[in-house]
Amino acid sequence: MKLNRRNFLSAVAGFTVSHTLLARSISAQQTKPTRLILLGTKGGPRVGEAGRSNPSTLLLINDVPYLIDCGYGTTKQLLNAGVAVNRLRYLFITHHHSDHNLEFGPLVYNSWITGIPAQVDAYGPPGLAQMAQDFFSYLKFDIDTRIVDEGRPDPRKLLTVHEFDKPGVVMENADVKVSSCRVRHPPITQAYAYRFDARDRSIVISGDTAYAPELAEFAKDADVLVHEVMYLPGVEALVRRLPNAKRLREHLMAAHTLPEDVGKIAADARVKTLVLSHFVPGDDASITDDQWSEGVRKHFHGRVIVGKDLLEI
Ligand SMILES: [Zn+2]
Ligand SMILES: [Zn+2]
Repeated sequence: MKLNRRNFLSAVAGFTVSHTLLARSISAQQTKPTRLILLGTKGGPRVGEAGRSNPSTLLLINDVPYLIDCGYGTTKQLLNAGVAVNRLRYLFITHHHSDHNLEFGPLVYNSWITGIPAQVDAYGPPGLAQMAQDFFSYLKFDIDTRIVDEGRPDPRKLLTVHEFDKPGVVMENADVKVSSCRVRHPPITQAYAYRFDARDRSIVISGDTAYAPELAEFAKDADVLVHEVMYLPGVEALVRRLPNAKRLREHLMAAHTLPEDVGKIAADARVKTLVLSHFVPGDDASITDDQWSEGVRKHFHGRVIVGKDLLEI
């Protein structure tokens, strides 16, 4: 073909188009959409015989796992969500109740023992570094044996703990900015919510909190707010069966949020989607999805999702 001006121009245009498509497909491969997967949605440390697993929430940002809280069963739930344990990279603890941190040490251990582990960065309130140290001494015999006997790296060097004791920016990289907000969870004062601002979505995780209007400000215009919730008739039924009913009821009322107040927070924050999680009580199958969300809808008219384990939003 003789290259006249017209052919030349279309050849140049063709090159530009295919070059642009190529660039687009490369950038699509490089930046994967942010995924939110609920791993465990049952509030409280008691291990249920069936149903909801203890609290943990997973974000996959550009395919890198960011785990928020790790109650009992988190390793298994991570696997059930299709994420190999040794891919664990970032861990965030909201506060030091055991339903949020019981599997902190075991997760790092499981990551180490499962193959070539990634470096793990863990963020949370004061006490986290001591917990890591205590866990490694708890398993010192096993760890030291395997390092020598199996030629494994030292797991103590694979974990970096970052403690913070006031709200603000927790970490930032090319994919996401993570910030924290102090919430109300007496008697614990170091209790935080986290906000993840990724390129495509902003997601807020409330942690455990009583009604906290400052959380609405923190979650302003977020795409998704994952908020804890407590259903009063269910709590009444639960505490009636227990010997420490009065004290437990007082603690729950002071430290958690009723559906109506969750609705107020979501409405004030003007979030697009509200996800209910950390259900209290979390193992009463008689409470329906409508009952969980009915109070919420009095104030919030956006999309409400009643969370389930392994649900992706
Ligand atoms: Zn909790
Ligand atoms: Zn708590």
